Amino acid sequence: MIVTINTYTVRVAGARIKPVRCARCQQDYYYETVRTAKGSSATVYGIGAKSAEQSAANEAHAGLPYELYYAVDPVPCPKCGTLQPDVEEKFKKARRLPIPGMPPALVAEQPAPAMGAAIPIRLKTAVPQKADVENGQLTVQEHRMYFPAACCMCGVPAELPFKMPRSKAYENGMRACPKCLEDLGRRYKRRSFEGALLGLGLGGLVGFLFSLVPDAGGGAWVAGGVLGVIAGGFLALLLPDRLEPKYCTWIDRSRGIVQYRFASQAYMQELAKAATVCLNAGPVLQHLYV
Ligand SMILES: [Zn+2]
Ligand SMILES: [Zn+2]
Repeated sequence: MIVTINTYTVRVAGARIKPVRCARCQQDYYYETVRTAKGSSATVYGIGAKSAEQSAANEAHAGLPYELYYAVDPVPCPKCGTLQPDVEEKFKKARRLPIPGMPPALVAEQPAPAMGAAIPIRLKTAVPQKADVENGQLTVQEHRMYFPAACCMCGVPAELPFKMPRSKAYENGMRACPKCLEDLGRRYKRRSFEGALLGLGLGGLVGFLFSLVPDAGGGAWVAGGVLGVIAGGFLALLLPDRLEPKYCTWIDRSRGIVQYRFASQAYMQELAKAATVCLNAGPVLQHLYV
């Protein structure tokens, strides 16, 4: 009997302006913190899929205010540079400070209008962001980013959403040109085929080695064949993803901090430009609910 279980995961993101009074110089300052919260639910045989999705979303939305309320980020006082003692203690314990390339928080000395207000929020970044384009990597807070209308694989102007062949489309607005998407699909097919062949070859080799054992008989080849089919299927599934470079790596999922790496220098330059604009202009929370 086969039991099918579908799981639903919903992740929501939000931002909050946190007020701080510096323990050393008494300066009041405010910074923006971003957190995500996750909710999940499962169905058996797909029964009640709609309500499962809803309950995952409810759980995520219920958890978000809690995450935001207790969130603290390692943001030093803009006046004297002191990192607040409670924050320092917390981050020391959690071994989360410093995170190399961590995007800076936005800070202000005056309270900013509430998030979502019609007045644009203009907060300064605590430390200017420097994109490490030379090494082909850029670390940003995803919720503050927008993606340029260019192909993330070759850099030419593009409109199609970028999608890995075996995953859902990224919801962050990354784009790709038809040619690169086609090439990616073809690469996946070729690697699947190569993986299957490799698995079958390994199975054949095992069968051959077993057949050398005296009195092994035909059983050795059957065992080798079965092993080959299993290994072939496994490698066909595994190889395409393994051989494709990783474009996005989560550095801190709870804060939406992600590292991007793209081979195209032209695209990395565009991305760095977009990051600078976003970080200097204040929060661009276009993915408030993802
Ligand atoms: Zn201070
Ligand atoms: Zn392209």
